[in-house]
Amino acid sequence: MKPSFSPLSGACRCGRVRFEVSAPPLITMACHCRGCQRMSASAFSLSAAFPTQAFRVTQGEAIIGGLHGDDVHHYCCPHCMSWMFTRIPGMDMFVNVRSSLLNDPQPFAPFIESWTSEKLRWASTPAVHSYAQFPPMEAYEALLLEYEEFRTKQERGI
Ligand SMILES: [Zn+2]
Ligand SMILES: [Zn+2]
Repeated sequence: MKPSFSPLSGACRCGRVRFEVSAPPLITMACHCRGCQRMSASAFSLSAAFPTQAFRVTQGEAIIGGLHGDDVHHYCCPHCMSWMFTRIPGMDMFVNVRSSLLNDPQPFAPFIESWTSEKLRWASTPAVHSYAQFPPMEAYEALLLEYEEFRTKQERGI
């Protein structure tokens, strides 16, 4: 039997848009690409990919922002404009939540990091796997399995 998961909540900076996740993340990531640097106004963005059916907005309504001409949907709070989560059309099985918006962001250290080819020289993360761009599609199945093992070990404190 899988251990039960207590739902976690998160919010934008002003708290008008709130969300809840009811399952553990499939994987956690840092992205060093220039787009993420600009959108996050920081060295890299932080994501935790949650299964779509385990993610719901519980208060307010996020609007699409971070427009770039591609079809990736970056959702932001319409009031404080915080970048909150991303949905990728055609990859509807997960939602990439900015893990720093969770009420307790501590357990979501990035397991993989992408776009190190655009990384700021001084920026570093504890990611176990690094990729110059995104991981190749065929790498994901193994990465998700490895992350699940990593996460459960972490939860058990071993
Ligand atoms: Zn807000
Ligand atoms: Zn990025």
